[in-house]
Amino acid sequence: MDRRTAGEILGILRGAYPGAMKDGRYHAPAFEALITTILSAQTTDRSVDLVRGRLFGKYPTPEALSRADTASVEEIIHSTGFYHAKARHIIAASKSLITDFGGTVPRTMEELVRIPGVGRKTANIVLYHVYGKNDGVAVDTHVMRLSGRIGLSDRKDQDGIERDLMALFPEDAWGPVTDLLIAHGRAVCTARKPDCGRCIINRFCRYYHETFLPQAGRSS
Ligand code: SF4
Repeated sequence: MDRRTAGEILGILRGAYPGAMKDGRYHAPAFEALITTILSAQTTDRSVDLVRGRLFGKYPTPEALSRADTASVEEIIHSTGFYHAKARHIIAASKSLITDFGGTVPRTMEELVRIPGVGRKTANIVLYHVYGKNDGVAVDTHVMRLSGRIGLSDRKDQDGIERDLMALFPEDAWGPVTDLLIAHGRAVCTARKPDCGRCIINRFCRYYHETFLPQAGRSS
């Protein structure tokens, strides 16, 4: 796909999902935003929202969470899934914030990915939503699926897809691209049954052309 077509898709999605970049969870202190993002892996926003109040009520700071009892944290975050690993990660991440970063959430990709449980996806989300920085494109399960279907990237790995999206979209769109693809993935281009007939970007979509217009594709 060329950059002009990618830009058209971005413009249409911006118009369709104007609230996509205003997730209230990231208006919280940076520490809470970081921990929330780690907890968000492989689960729904709703399940994370249900545990945030209790978790940060009991452990409101990196200091408090770094000293937490693992079993107690597991009990609180149980419903978010993968709770053994997530509890280990968020306690270790809090310890790292204390020992390596003076108790604050760092502002660079290089530093963020040194924190246990934080990869480029989490770091990109924190950098954009907490600090307003476009350092890369966060590639989650929705972004992976839609990138492949639409034809934004042919790669299967997160890092490769991120590189393709960074080449395709202007730097100031890297943060919004994630939020808009997630919004469209939830609303229309779902994992189980994409609703291609009512999709507002179907004319640009490779999957749509290959699935519903194979004759037109061959004759053009
Ligand atoms: S046309 Fe279908 S596959 Fe393509 S983006 Fe829209 S819903 Fe997804």
